[in-house]
Amino acid sequence: MNILIKEFIDSIDEEELYKLQYDLSKGSIALKKTVEEKIKEIENRKRKHCAVCGEELVEKEGVYTLIFPHENLTKKASFCATDCMEFFLGKLKSANSIIKANETEKNKNEMNNSEMKNEAISEENINKLNR
Ligand SMILES: [Zn+2]
Repeated sequence: MNILIKEFIDSIDEEELYKLQYDLSKGSIALKKTVEEKIKEIENRKRKHCAVCGEELVEKEGVYTLIFPHENLTKKASFCATDCMEFFLGKLKSANSIIKANETEKNKNEMNNSEMKNEAISEENINKLNR
């Protein structure tokens, strides 16, 4: 089942919708609690497969689980063994360094642009002085 919030709102009945509106107007305490409970339930659920090799983990003892930030979300991945976890960490490290390198490159470009603007301004000023 994969429904979006919009679809969820469309599917609940009027009474539930008014209750939700009331809750939202009062600081969404009931909604926050419901969401937090659901997230806790998901996080406590055992992962079914190793994120690297796909081995089934449900019956397996000594499973490793990693909780990490990804695109403003908290992601969770489980592994059958430390070598699978290490492989995943390696991938994560290189993905993060690519993101950092792109950000540095972007900052450099922005700096170059501002330097070029400064040059343009000073050239303009020079022309004014020459007039
Ligand atoms: Zn594995």
